[in-house]
Amino acid sequence: MNYSQDWQLENSYSDLPEQFFTKINPVPVSSPKLLIFNEELAKSLGIELDLNDKAMLANLFSGNALPRNTNPIAQAYAGHQFGHFSILGDGRAHLLGEKISLDGKRYDIQFKGSGQTPYSRGGDGRAAVGPMLREYLISEAMHALKIPTTRSLAVVSTGESIMRSSLLDGAILTRVASSHIRIGTFEYAHRMLGYNQLKKLADYAIERHYPEVLDDENTYLSFLNAVIERQAKLVASWMHIGFIHGVMNTDNMSICGETIDYGPCAFMDIFSMERVFSSIDYRGRYKFGSQAHAAHWNLGRLADSLLPLLHKDTEEANKLAEASLAEYSQIFNDAWISGMCRKLGLHNDEAEDLSLIQKLLDWMQTEKADYTKTFYDLSQESLPDNEIYSSKGFQEWNAVWKERLAKNSMSLKSSLKMMRANNPVIIPNNYHVEEALKASEEGDLKVFLSLLEALKEPFEPTILNEPYRNATINPIPNYQTFCGT
Ligand code: AMP
Ligand code: MG
Repeated sequence: MNYSQDWQLENSYSDLPEQFFTKINPVPVSSPKLLIFNEELAKSLGIELDLNDKAMLANLFSGNALPRNTNPIAQAYAGHQFGHFSILGDGRAHLLGEKISLDGKRYDIQFKGSGQTPYSRGGDGRAAVGPMLREYLISEAMHALKIPTTRSLAVVSTGESIMRSSLLDGAILTRVASSHIRIGTFEYAHRMLGYNQLKKLADYAIERHYPEVLDDENTYLSFLNAVIERQAKLVASWMHIGFIHGVMNTDNMSICGETIDYGPCAFMDIFSMERVFSSIDYRGRYKFGSQAHAAHWNLGRLADSLLPLLHKDTEEANKLAEASLAEYSQIFNDAWISGMCRKLGLHNDEAEDLSLIQKLLDWMQTEKADYTKTFYDLSQESLPDNEIYSSKGFQEWNAVWKERLAKNSMSLKSSLKMMRANNPVIIPNNYHVEEALKASEEGDLKVFLSLLEALKEPFEPTILNEPYRNATINPIPNYQTFCGT
């Protein structure tokens, strides 16, 4: 089926050597139905559509009808999954092309769940309604929380069933990303292709994401340093809001520093550095408190892949890579501590800040306090009448915090303002997410839509987020999330 509108998609990625992708169309589905469409995002991309024509939207966002002059591809890549190297690639995704947004930025428009490709490795190429709506909700919430992230443009149900642990309704998500170049894309180029292709990929990624390093003496080293910095800061920003990615394999770490691949991710309710939600993360490799380490390990795989470009002499190249990786901890720690200071209203650095932050987290872990709620409560003029705040442990910490606040060069009022700008009143709480997905899977999208709306302004108490803020919710015991569903 043809669709007459031309989205004027570009295909700069297809100028890379042919081993980096396969030209392939999405596999049509029997009976697509539009579940959700992100009108505001479409507008910012310069995609104008007739929203009353639901059949056309369903055909478009399922891949049944492609915009004119669209040349879809599936990308090749590899990755370390839980520490083990595998050749992967888009096994259930099709990149339609790149759209230049109204503000001149280049974005990939990609379908996920759109059928098999040469990289499917026996998988069915499909995805289910629940996980695709989940990615839509959480990625949009992350965007509102000001965390760099891919975004979601649409979800369409396919009218076809897919087999998982039971039969589920199929769905396709349209994802918008600054690009889909992963650490795993570099591992693929380095291990499977060779120097020339690796160089072409690096040149492409630099021009697309880090043009500021193009004139540096050692461009590839500057590129590595820049990725290290963006990923360290990204993971620090996850930690600030209690986000657990859950599957930080190198194929799920984007070179441009956006959060990508919302599989088993979740927001922490009860605080613990040990928190894991993913059903397959048996050893806690990607637990909350290990995310900074996991990102460092992944960056080591990027550095390994870039070695031939860093220096002709392998020993020199290794030295350069090691020196760059050694900077990571400082960058991460600085970003994490300064964000935590903003959460606690602490202005100008003081030597005792780290210990103050640490003691609060220790107290929260012992008391099994809710991460988001605790920081929200601390950001108010006065604490609520909750017995955990009358405990001796909290009172002692509170006294030290008050003393520290008094050292600020800003008024208490401006400290509270800074705290409110950094402590969300709402995050996608596991209970509410599950409730919304369950209703959606049963055909009622109202609960999902009101949660989505409530998450749009996470730093302001609004009428829309009021019901979620004041709900007394018990964390779901042993809550588990799933990969690749
Ligand atoms: P993910 O866990 O979504 O990051 O996926 C890891 C790898 O498995 C990627 O190469 C995916 O394209 C592939 N994959 C996941 N689910 C499927 C599926 N249903 N069919 C084919 N490939 C899949
Ligand atoms: Mg992935």
